[in-house]
Amino acid sequence: MLRPFLHYYFMKKDFQINYEYFRNADELNDIEKKLLEKAKQARENAYSPYSQFSVGCAVLLENGEIFSGNNQENAAFPSGLCAERTALFWISANFPHEKIKKIFVVGGPKEFSENNPPIPPCGACRQSLLEYEIKQNENIDLYFSNMNNEVVKVESIKELLPFYFDSTFL
Ligand SMILES: [Zn+2]
Repeated sequence: MLRPFLHYYFMKKDFQINYEYFRNADELNDIEKKLLEKAKQARENAYSPYSQFSVGCAVLLENGEIFSGNNQENAAFPSGLCAERTALFWISANFPHEKIKKIFVVGGPKEFSENNPPIPPCGACRQSLLEYEIKQNENIDLYFSNMNNEVVKVESIKELLPFYFDSTFL
């Protein structure tokens, strides 16, 4: 994506974000359904005694393996970590050369109600996902969902980070 502010400094401009919405799991393909289920299973093991907000995620690698993560909280709050980064950092530590194809995130309050919408990744997790997209020079499909299996899909984290920060600014 171009950096519009470098090229069109004096112009007003709109961004368009491309995403897909799935009403329920029936609209997903087989691998997507599997990732949704894995992410939900991972959510069950989230350690979220303080926020009561549990998130699970499942990550598909190019070699076909699926790994999961969930949020890990701490009494010293900043020491905790989101589900997405728990999984991404572990994967990068153990499979540094394997490309990440898809990540599926399912989250919401422990006591889920029908009204909880699909939960998008927080800003820090978006930035981490961006780092791995750039590192592997290939986009990652990101799905985020709720417990009703409503799913939003974007084909690159850049859709959710139009003015992203990367190493070219360093
Ligand atoms: Zn996060």
